[in-house]
Amino acid sequence: MSLAITYKKIPVPTPLPDEVLVHIRYSGVCHTDLHAMNGDWPLAHKLPLVGGHEGAGVVVAHGSLVSQEELPLGSPVGVKWLNGSCLSCAFCQAGDEPLCGKALLSGYTVDGSFQEYAVAKAAHVAKIPDGVDLEEVAPVLCAGITVYKGLKESGARPGEWVAIVGAGGGLGSMAVQYARAMGLRVVAIDGGEEKGVSSRALGAEGYVDFRMSEDLVGDVKRATPDGLGPHAVLLLAVQEKPFQQATEYVRSRGTVVCIGLPANAYLRAPVFDTVVRMISIKGSYVGNRQDTREALDFFSRGLIKVPIKTVGLSQLGEVYKMMEEGKVVGRYVVDTSK
Ligand code: NAD
Ligand code: ZN
Repeated sequence: MSLAITYKKIPVPTPLPDEVLVHIRYSGVCHTDLHAMNGDWPLAHKLPLVGGHEGAGVVVAHGSLVSQEELPLGSPVGVKWLNGSCLSCAFCQAGDEPLCGKALLSGYTVDGSFQEYAVAKAAHVAKIPDGVDLEEVAPVLCAGITVYKGLKESGARPGEWVAIVGAGGGLGSMAVQYARAMGLRVVAIDGGEEKGVSSRALGAEGYVDFRMSEDLVGDVKRATPDGLGPHAVLLLAVQEKPFQQATEYVRSRGTVVCIGLPANAYLRAPVFDTVVRMISIKGSYVGNRQDTREALDFFSRGLIKVPIKTVGLSQLGEVYKMMEEGKVVGRYVVDTSK
């Protein structure tokens, strides 16, 4: 069911014993928020819903079980997609918290960061290093963590090539920068000149325009110096077609990592080629608390600089419209006070 945005005053939530109350200053706008609005995923969300899951702010109140030492009042924190998890199931114990059956999802199953005051489980809020700009860091809290984890899952090693599909968008821009910071070489794939310029400025060595290319598979392979194709592919686009193409241009023994979540889409790959070229196809879903810490560490060392545009929360509808049309380059961030 497709929903509409409404603005209204709601009470400041009271943190449960294991939660903190966060004064959200900025929140990134992720395509996932648009999926929630459009209701196009096979996953139910709460209603009415406060969206948003890239919230950067400061701790302003503690639940009774949270100590000042653990999360001092005024300390900078992030409210991310994984708002909480049970911490005791087999997945949580293994550090696979995103797979927890009781996971709480910000801006989806619990109210998120498109408001000034949000609650989040103390164990899961991201500790933002001191001195980091809250506006700039907001998109790391979903996009950054997700692509960093995806790059780790790809198994690509320094000096190897990775194709970033959807490189001009929010996750894609982050992915180009994380890949570079991890010593990888990047072929960017997206549509239009502006996204090509942006991807190259962020560090991509090659750019293939999916709208212009008459032989996308060949063009991606030729973008790697030996013509054998990239060692890994990160699929971040919100279209099904690139999910069908990736196994054709990935290098033999390469890995295709699926991250984007186009509605009603299926993966399709020829069994013969997948077997005889020893191709791996896998999914990657956000990241755990350790991935969060590492992704923020890259950012705080100045290695990740992604173009952001900040607008008031009151302009969220316009951002969704541009996103729907594929016109967002980099990430929009909303200022929750405007
Ligand atoms: P975005 O709209 O900012 O970016 C998507 C990009 O894909 C755009 O630049 C668009 O031009 C490009 N694109 C469209 N068709 C393409 C094609 N055929 N080939 C190459 N590029 C193409 O979206 P975003 O915020 O970066 O999110 C991307 C997707 O990732 C969404 O589906 C979102 O829900 C999903 N997501 C998944 C996770 C996860 O944990 N797996 C986490 C966050 C977001
Ligand atoms: Zn997201």
